[in-house]
Amino acid sequence: MDIKRLEAWYEKNHRKLIFRETNHPYYIWVSEIMLQQTQVEAVLPYFERHIKKYPTVKELALADEVVFQKDVEGLGYYRRFKNMLKAAKIIVDEYQGVFPNQYNDLIKLPGIGKYTAGAIMSISYNLPYSALDGNVIRVLSRYLGKEEDMRLEKNRKVLDSINQSFIENATPKIYTQAMMELGAKVCRPKNPKCEECPLSEHCFAYLNDQVEKFPVLSKLKDKKEFNYITLIIQYEDKYILRKRTESLLEGMYEYPQYEVESISNIVNDFEDQGIHVSYYQYQKSYRHIFTHQVWNMHIYKVIVKDKIMEDWILLDKEKISEMPMAIAHRKIKI
Ligand code: SF4
Repeated sequence: MDIKRLEAWYEKNHRKLIFRETNHPYYIWVSEIMLQQTQVEAVLPYFERHIKKYPTVKELALADEVVFQKDVEGLGYYRRFKNMLKAAKIIVDEYQGVFPNQYNDLIKLPGIGKYTAGAIMSISYNLPYSALDGNVIRVLSRYLGKEEDMRLEKNRKVLDSINQSFIENATPKIYTQAMMELGAKVCRPKNPKCEECPLSEHCFAYLNDQVEKFPVLSKLKDKKEFNYITLIIQYEDKYILRKRTESLLEGMYEYPQYEVESISNIVNDFEDQGIHVSYYQYQKSYRHIFTHQVWNMHIYKVIVKDKIMEDWILLDKEKISEMPMAIAHRKIKI
């Protein structure tokens, strides 16, 4: 690979993103976690707010979990932020608040896998550790003409060791960022800009007019669909939310929802449990698409009397906007 040309291209052309203008490990870590499954444009305002509010890992470790969840509301994949908070506390407790600079220490922290550890080691400490994400997989698959299915871990491992051999002959902090930037801006999934690419001279896919063929990715299973009846429940002058315990969106708040055929199933079930439903009215339906599932949510307004369920939380209407909530529920207007 023409690494020198790639690095020169990066120095000249990269976007001046706030988290690319620093090598501070805390900034790199926060940005890499936020960028998982999330577009740069969506991350930028969150990142800026985060750094202002929690300028160091020590401040982050002191954050209240519910407040922090609210801070990241809208970014999705909330487990990563639970892990971020856990990792911050470990860094303060076990490393006196100094960000670890050894790969073996980083990889032990919650939410830090091989990719994030590689990104921190290479970008912050300029050490040759491969950081192979979806963008880099695409660039290398095309450049090398890799025919293997990149959904399979064993094939990604082979690519990772090739990436490792490249970074060992590069300036690690530039190489990692150059590959990320190339994947994001030039070697895009659709319509890559090969004529602007510093790797085009030896790129297998480009030279063989097979750019669309790579990376080879086997088809994912169809998304699972769920039909929910979702309730805006009023009890006296308050509204009801519940805190999710399910692994998807764990810890986020939501309006109670039930996977049943009709509202009358819920009314009957409530009545059996001593909760009297004095009013219900259909509002509207939403469809929310996650990575692996789809929620069809049919929203009803409900007034209950006598008692409430144990896991329900009573809140004033104004307070609801302060609770961390997934977008699927935040878009419900009461
Ligand atoms: S030449 Fe085109 S396909 Fe090859 S790495 Fe560059 S942008 Fe990607």
